[in-house]
Amino acid sequence: MKIIIMGAGLLGVTTAYFLGRQGHEVIVLERQKGPALETSFANGGMITPSQAYPWNRPGIFRKLLAWMGDEDAPFLLRANAVLPLLGWGISFIRNSGMQRYLLNMQKNAKLAAYSLNILKQLRQQHDMHYDETDKGTLKIYKNDKSLQEGLQLSERFSDAGIQFKPLNGQEVLTLEPALNDVSDDIMGGIYYPDDEAGDAYEFCRLLARQAEINGVQFKYQIDVIGLECSAGGISGVESTAGRYVADAYVLAMGSYSALLAKQVNIYLPIQPVKGYSLTLELNGWQTGPTIPVIDESMHAAVVPLGCRLRVAGMAEFSGYNTDISQSRIDNMFRFVSTLYPEFAAFLDRSSALQWVGLRPYTCDGVPLLGRTPLNNLYLNTGHGHLGWTMASGSGKLVADLISQRETALDISPYQLDRF
Ligand SMILES: Cc1cc2nc3c(=O)[nH]c(=O)nc-3n(C[C@H](O)[C@H](O)[C@H](O)COP(=O)(O)OP(=O)(O)OC[C@H]3O[C@@H](n4cnc5c(N)ncnc54)[C@H](O)[C@@H]3O)c2cc1C
Repeated sequence: MKIIIMGAGLLGVTTAYFLGRQGHEVIVLERQKGPALETSFANGGMITPSQAYPWNRPGIFRKLLAWMGDEDAPFLLRANAVLPLLGWGISFIRNSGMQRYLLNMQKNAKLAAYSLNILKQLRQQHDMHYDETDKGTLKIYKNDKSLQEGLQLSERFSDAGIQFKPLNGQEVLTLEPALNDVSDDIMGGIYYPDDEAGDAYEFCRLLARQAEINGVQFKYQIDVIGLECSAGGISGVESTAGRYVADAYVLAMGSYSALLAKQVNIYLPIQPVKGYSLTLELNGWQTGPTIPVIDESMHAAVVPLGCRLRVAGMAEFSGYNTDISQSRIDNMFRFVSTLYPEFAAFLDRSSALQWVGLRPYTCDGVPLLGRTPLNNLYLNTGHGHLGWTMASGSGKLVADLISQRETALDISPYQLDRF
């Protein structure tokens, strides 16, 4: 079969790789100069089945209202984003009821756990290295109430096979001595031993190369501008380099998938949620952190990636705007310097990579995989804050579906027709 994949982020690259392995003729159309140069470029780097819950947790509506307009808030809803968010926002709130939230969390946990296994297989098979670590994730808490809530949530996840270990303040420091300077602020923590981390960009670059070895063609600097539709299916893709025709098409353009799908009257409930990251050289800091740490109170994380630290966080509803807000960047510098005061002596702000990305967020916090109402158009998008965590498994599932192979997980909970 001839297959066109639109988008070469984490989801486009993994899908292309598996389809190539399955013997198809695969062409990937990507507007950037290489793979993973948009949202998959400098994300938090965490592969965390343990954090696979949707953001629209019970109580989120009140929190969003309280944080509205506050530049320092972890979730920021800008006034000019309210109108375009209306329909999506109502579903987002509706999905924050306890029952739906738990159901959506289970769906994500299943996909994330499957995905981590596939990632491990890929790493072993191709001897790939992308500053990966398999030391788990440490989540720290500053007060008992949020620690207890975190523990309750983790209990729910243990049904999906996700291990966790509650830690008191001293045990947190034993696990991550780099937190010693802030020991007074840490009430306790939760350790998730099975999580991993790594550089998503480097992974995509390496996997794209493997896909090319299997015959996949990556065509860069080509903008997909339209879809042609006839007889209940897609008959071609219009691009800045002309028309492309295939037997099947996969939409994997992250937040932009919704805009293209709209052209063929398919509504994808996806909105962009802007996030920030800093990538900082360790500059010889020998006693730096070795485990990714999530600070629950800040909704932000610091992740060691080889000789760098990635600091990531913030969620801003501001449409497709990718401007970098200096106050948010300052917040992130403050966050890492507060968590690791010793780093101040090594931190070189001028060489920091400051970055924003748009998380493609569905209104129920679960990605969109598989079939659409058009018979040869497939989706692999909408992975929100979990695209790296879920990429390898999602790519394999969508490829297996297109190749009419048995999928390891039932794909129906992730399909568009759940809405
Ligand atoms: C700050 C931040 C931190 C994050 N941290 C984590 C984390 O720690 N762990 C985790 O699991 N996930 C994390 N994520 C989420 C993860 O990065 C995303 O879910 C993932 O990158 C989405 O991948 P994608 O392939 O769907 O989209 P993208 O990476 O955006 O890929 C889509 C591709 O489509 C291309 N494209 C778009 N429109 C067109 C067009 N018209 N024509 C041609 N090409 C087009 C784009 O150039 C892009 O390359 C984070 C995200 C952010 C922003």
